[in-house]
Amino acid sequence: MRGRKSIVLVTVDCLRADHVGFMGYGRPTTPFLDSLAQQSFVVPTAIVAGAPTYYSLPAITASRYPLALGRDVLGVGPEEPTLASVLKGAGYSAAAFAGGNPYLSARFGYERGFDLFRDYLESDGAQTMEENPQPAASSGLAGRLNRKLQAIRPAMGPLGFVYDALYFEYCQRVTPAPASLDSLRRFPAADVIVDDACRWLASVSYTPFFLWLHLMDPHSPYCPKDAALGLMGQKPVTPYRARYMNSYWNRSDLGPRRFQRHRDEVVGLYDAGVRWVDEQMKVLVEFLQHANRWDDSIFVLTADHGEEFLDHGGRYHPPSRLMEELIHVPLLLRIPGVSKREVSKAPFSLIHLAPTLLDAVQLTAPVEFHGRSRFGALQRGERFEGVALSECVAGCTNPFHAENRIGPRVLSVREARYKLVLHFDPVAEDLYDLEADPGEQTPLASTEQKAVRRRLLEIAREHLKQAIAHQESPARVQALLRDLQIEWNHAPGKASPVAS
Ligand SMILES: [Zn+2]
Repeated sequence: MRGRKSIVLVTVDCLRADHVGFMGYGRPTTPFLDSLAQQSFVVPTAIVAGAPTYYSLPAITASRYPLALGRDVLGVGPEEPTLASVLKGAGYSAAAFAGGNPYLSARFGYERGFDLFRDYLESDGAQTMEENPQPAASSGLAGRLNRKLQAIRPAMGPLGFVYDALYFEYCQRVTPAPASLDSLRRFPAADVIVDDACRWLASVSYTPFFLWLHLMDPHSPYCPKDAALGLMGQKPVTPYRARYMNSYWNRSDLGPRRFQRHRDEVVGLYDAGVRWVDEQMKVLVEFLQHANRWDDSIFVLTADHGEEFLDHGGRYHPPSRLMEELIHVPLLLRIPGVSKREVSKAPFSLIHLAPTLLDAVQLTAPVEFHGRSRFGALQRGERFEGVALSECVAGCTNPFHAENRIGPRVLSVREARYKLVLHFDPVAEDLYDLEADPGEQTPLASTEQKAVRRRLLEIAREHLKQAIAHQESPARVQALLRDLQIEWNHAPGKASPVAS
């Protein structure tokens, strides 16, 4: 089966485009990937089709808009064709190492097409990542007093803010200091994933392979490896300080001005997470080189979404406004035997990534894929017809609660220069001129650029029409049946309605 190129796909959780060196970041987060970028296509405007993870990955793995099967369906349908299933059908060995993100599990269909799928989840993935609890207060007298004070907190008026600050500091001090940064981390670090991946690579015979790694190092809580801080030239961070920073950043009682005072320190921790990814990519590539597999391996690195650091007052990556810090991600594409060319600045939606990769290994994309190959345009250095749509359900921060999934949709339509963000409840449309206002600080007045607004609205309308047409698809029905069975299996005292 030798002949086709192998594919290594790396998705990094929360990696925003402007925090990698090859996209112009000033700090040394990605020296290895920067060197790889010299021989790779670097897509300047890669845009995710949804955010966060659960609205992004269906587009990356199955080239399908995240809400196309209905807002209540999460993940990939049981029989939907995916990049992995097509490659598997063509004789590839396939393995995925998805580093502990509960939305990337077999439960949501992501194991489809893989011989080996490892999600590093302890249970069946029925957990959320949105809870980021404050350290608990003691159960002694002080703890009881605090609980009483908390009960009367709403009546405290302006004094309540002083109480909040004191209570936060108190909790930090009474909670025993963690032993290490490693003990604070919730996900396996990139070295664990890369080690496992290398072991698998060593075990596959010389067929082409597809390897997918999903790395969580830049995801909150921001607890980088000590070694990564050293590589960044940063001073060591004590485990106490790292926990303090993460707890502070997670407070719900503060406004952006108060968060601003610790922003740079938090970003320093995040950047060190990116640096560890870079270091481990070097390990992986060197392994492939020594194993004589690098010369026929396509290597792709991108992200499922970015991360907010108060750019518009927000933190983390909630589904809300689809601003650039959330939807603009790096995309580095190294294809052996294909010379690097400059890539058009027009948006490259990640919906096109899977068909582009299949094209690069001379396989036909399934008709179900929404995206189209950009391989020819990349090879020839041509401009794409560039529009990228991104969508999410506003406020759905915990989709394990099915009722959270049925909020109002947010949709953005991004061209090279203009971007329209549509909210449906309450109805609002914000048009940005990204050339004049790259930080998206001020939407254009409704009287400005009417023709542009009309054009982007028409694209949005067509997208919504397509989404409605998909609602009757067999893929939706299959996904709903799967979810029903999972719910049934988890209901206490119930046996599965389907014979196993
Ligand atoms: Zn994510």
